[in-house]
Amino acid sequence: MAYDNDNIFAKILRGEAPAFKVFEDDYSLAFMDVMPQVEGHTLVIPKDPTENIHNADPVILGHTMATVQRVAAAVKTAFDAPGIMLAQLNGEAAGQTVFHLHFHILPRREGLEMLLHARQMADFDLLERHAQLIRDQL
Ligand code: 5GP
Repeated sequence: MAYDNDNIFAKILRGEAPAFKVFEDDYSLAFMDVMPQVEGHTLVIPKDPTENIHNADPVILGHTMATVQRVAAAVKTAFDAPGIMLAQLNGEAAGQTVFHLHFHILPRREGLEMLLHARQMADFDLLERHAQLIRDQL
C-alpha cells in the first residue's frame, strides 16, 4: 500500500489538523492520543512519510526511538507510573488504524485496565493539561 499523504498524522505534521504536542525535533513529533486508552497515552511519530515498521528507514527509526525513550521517561515521571508499555501496530490485521508509523506510550499501573483501542474521544482541556504535565518533564 502506498503512503497516504492525507492520513491524520500527515495532516498533523503539516499543521492542517490540531494536536496536543509535547515534543518535536527535526525528525520526530510527540503528541497526546486523542482517544487515550489510559491517562497520559502519548504517540511518537517520525516526520518522514513512513507507513509502518517494514518500510521505515533504520536511521529515521533510530531517531524516532530516541524520542520514544525520552518522551517515555517524561510520561513516566509526569504520571508517576510504575510501568510504561510501548505498542506499535503494523497492518490492519494487527489493529493499525492510522497508516503513518507511530509508537504508543502507555503509563501502566497494577489494577488499572486500559480502555478499548481508539474508541472514546477525551476531553480537550484534560488532554492539554496532560500534555503540559509531560512538557514540564522534558
Ligand atoms: P493505531 O491503531 O494505528 O495503532 O493507532 C492510532 C491511534 O491514533 C489510536 O490510538 C487513535 O486513538 C489515535 N488517533 C486517531 N485519530 C487521531 C487524531 O486525530 N489525533 C490524535 N492525536 N490521535 C488520533
